[in-house]
Amino acid sequence: MTPEEIKRYLEFYRDLGIKDLRMHPPAPPPPATAAKPVAPAPEPAPFSERTPAMPPAPPADLSESPLPPPVMAPAILPMQPENDTMERIRADIGDCKRCRLCQDRNKIVFGAGNEKAPLVFVGEGPGADEDASGLPFVGRAGQLLTQMIEGTSQKEGIPLLREQVYICNVVKCRPPENRTPLPDEMEVCGQFLFRQLMALQPKAICCLGSTASKALLGSKDGVMKLRGKWAKWRDIPVMVTYHPSYLLRPYNQNAKREAWDDLKKVLHFVYD
Ligand code: SF4
Repeated sequence: MTPEEIKRYLEFYRDLGIKDLRMHPPAPPPPATAAKPVAPAPEPAPFSERTPAMPPAPPADLSESPLPPPVMAPAILPMQPENDTMERIRADIGDCKRCRLCQDRNKIVFGAGNEKAPLVFVGEGPGADEDASGLPFVGRAGQLLTQMIEGTSQKEGIPLLREQVYICNVVKCRPPENRTPLPDEMEVCGQFLFRQLMALQPKAICCLGSTASKALLGSKDGVMKLRGKWAKWRDIPVMVTYHPSYLLRPYNQNAKREAWDDLKKVLHFVYD
């Protein structure tokens, strides 16, 4: 890595609000031509503290694209400041312009719910209603998610209100036309999700749809293959199920039943 690349790398993390930088594996020695190191040699972090990296963004020809160039993120070493808090993460996001999704957003959708909840739901990104309100899952899909949480928990004898869990997304700004977030957007904004999850320390995470499962599990498998089985993000159990917007389509009634089954497993694991 050249001194210029190291400098860009450090600036990237500084922009994310990360001030205590540790790297693993240790950075290779600078080339002989380098006059002086850009930063003091950091302590290597234990490998177990690292989060599975997102796959790198595929190269794209953006010469005719109306979009600005992709986020020039160097290979990510996921990490978070020590003693991180939700307030600190929110402050670090600020009026974020770290990726192109800032361009059309109205409101950043940080997340909502009980920050002490043992259960966190992770979706893909805000839609139009969420972008307008600044709150996650408030449109039709959100209403279905509320029904899923409150209806299933009621039936299972674990009465739970939606406000008692925490809900957030992989990206905090609405992608144009509700498109799927691009890998580099997920990689940059995903760092805030990782910090949120580490600060929240839930007993379990429920991934809603394939974007969330890709972000947390790094798996290329689709929801149909991943759903219903426990996986892990770091040491936290993860259950993948369908995104509520997929369940709203009338021909997905079987998926609805499966999603309810997945949710039952999560609720009993967390609250029994
Ligand atoms: S999606 Fe995330 S990284 Fe991109 S501008 Fe919004 S808050 Fe920043």
